[in-house]
Amino acid sequence: MAGAVDMAGGEDDVDFDPSAPPPFKLAEIRAAIPKHCWVKDPWRSMSYVIRDVLAVFGLVAMVIYFNSGAFWLLYWAAQGTMFWALFVLGHDCGHGSFSDSPTLNSIVGHVLHSSILVPYHGWRISHRTHHQNHGNVEKDESWVPLPEKIYKNMDDLTKFLRYKIPYPLFAFPVYLVRLRNHACTWWRSPGKEGSHFNPYSGLFHPSERNSAITSTFCWTVMVALLMYLSSVIGPFQMLGLYGVPYLIFVMWLDLVTYLHHHGHEQKLPWYRGKEWNYLRGGLTTVDRDYGWLNNIHHDIGTHVLHHLFPQIPHYHLREAFNSGIVIMASQTQAAKPLLGKYYREPRKSGPIPFHLIGNLLQSMEHDHYVSDTEEIVYYQTDYQLHESSSKIE
Ligand SMILES: [Zn+2]
Ligand SMILES: [Zn+2]
Repeated sequence: MAGAVDMAGGEDDVDFDPSAPPPFKLAEIRAAIPKHCWVKDPWRSMSYVIRDVLAVFGLVAMVIYFNSGAFWLLYWAAQGTMFWALFVLGHDCGHGSFSDSPTLNSIVGHVLHSSILVPYHGWRISHRTHHQNHGNVEKDESWVPLPEKIYKNMDDLTKFLRYKIPYPLFAFPVYLVRLRNHACTWWRSPGKEGSHFNPYSGLFHPSERNSAITSTFCWTVMVALLMYLSSVIGPFQMLGLYGVPYLIFVMWLDLVTYLHHHGHEQKLPWYRGKEWNYLRGGLTTVDRDYGWLNNIHHDIGTHVLHHLFPQIPHYHLREAFNSGIVIMASQTQAAKPLLGKYYREPRKSGPIPFHLIGNLLQSMEHDHYVSDTEEIVYYQTDYQLHESSSKIE
């Protein structure tokens, strides 16, 4: 816990209440961001797409050329990470931060997301719900804390799977499908239903059904293409070239989306009812340093700012962040950051962010459920979980 106090900036942080309403407004933060940081440059956005697509095909060419065991391992890690980078660019399209043209955003988003088996509009719409309700126990969309009552009613197998690695790292495809099944709950989020593929699911407003159909169609075309390719080059070759990188991508997606809202060294509040508002919810998101990967996956770790202002393109996030929002006293030693203690400086990463595994394990072990009724809640720990999981093992 050494970092709990240090990272936020001093010993007096022990008394700091992260759930206290902040003394600044969203508009003040917005005003501190330079105007050019809001400008979307479609050419620049496209250049990142080209860079990533070239990297994907370059990696394929290299692994076919070298075709050695060690190189395949390297290929899987690198290609899975590149799939994840493509996902982040599609995520920009979904927020409309890729360009000012909805058509361009939709076309590029569909190509990028379908290529990695994500239904573009389906995910875009539920991700919008996530941003609009971040930090809200009842309305947030992904990785929402379970109320105690639901948690206590879960069977031991469900608890075991949800809170033990590696299942949570492969949860994304299950999250997309999210079918209703009352007999068995381990493969869906309790209280959350509605498939991202089904235009009639509760995730979508009736006016969004056509969008959901388009994306499900594009996804199906990609599945057909993968099946065709596997009939041409063989299923094992496809598994090596596409299947394993897809699984690594899913791990990245689950790890990153979880750790941007969990696993900080200090417990962070979640809200419900009147205590929730957009700014308070957004301030409970967590920035992460990914070392060398920051640039590769398009600064997704600059997450607090992204959550508050998802319209800012990824290539301006760092600058927007540094420009008066959270100037961390490095130059002046005196600058008082606007967000102050409400912003939590992420732990510095080495080249590869192995430290995040520790954050994940720590959170899985301690963050189990929240109060059913209070309006400001913190995760609580089920100390019996380890006993019940050893029964299953
Ligand atoms: Zn988020
Ligand atoms: Zn987002």
